[in-house]
Amino acid sequence: MKGSLTVIAGPMFSGKTEELQRRVRRLAIAGKEIVVFKPIIDNRYSDREIVSHNKNSVDCISVNHHNAEVLFGYIDWHNTEIVAIDEVQFFDKEIVSIIERFIEMGIHVIVAGLNLDSWNKPFGSMPELLARADHIEKLSAVCKKCKKENATLSQLLEVNSSTSDHIVVGGKDKYEARCRDCH
Ligand code: ADP
Ligand code: MG
Ligand code: ZN
Repeated sequence: MKGSLTVIAGPMFSGKTEELQRRVRRLAIAGKEIVVFKPIIDNRYSDREIVSHNKNSVDCISVNHHNAEVLFGYIDWHNTEIVAIDEVQFFDKEIVSIIERFIEMGIHVIVAGLNLDSWNKPFGSMPELLARADHIEKLSAVCKKCKKENATLSQLLEVNSSTSDHIVVGGKDKYEARCRDCH
């Protein structure tokens, strides 16, 4: 049987990592063979764990997002049932074909990522992954400015001259969730 693709998308602080963790934990309880990855760029808290903003963690393997072929090295084609990837927007575009290969081989893939960067441009391979997804979970956060629960955007707080590309890794110090009216 073929696998499938679930994409969890939303702005910063919308609970993407928590949702990925929730799914991984219950699949683990069900005895599934799971491999969890994140890009090495996201070392905000830990290299061996995916950590959410409220400090929940799940063990993972950190990989070079510019060389996603290395993911294959961690897969046991006879046993691995689930592959989960956090911060998938940071991976180079070959991640799409790698995920397709997993699905072809019967693996259920769950990814979480920012669908937009802080300039509201589609982020990395997220458009492609959302287009290919069997299931999509779109989350929103609480707008830091007006406190409505409809924040679908991420606001970068200070833009300096070194902020040339759209990869500025950070948490509450650098970003806020904002609704469309407040962005
Ligand atoms: P993401 O991976 O989408 O950035 P996390 O899953 O790491 O988000 O964190 C979600 C948690 O962040 C929430 O459960 C909440 O405790 C906290 N949080 C902080 N700021 C906000 C906000 N503006 N809106 C919603 N949750 C927030
Ligand atoms: Mg996250
Ligand atoms: Zn707002």
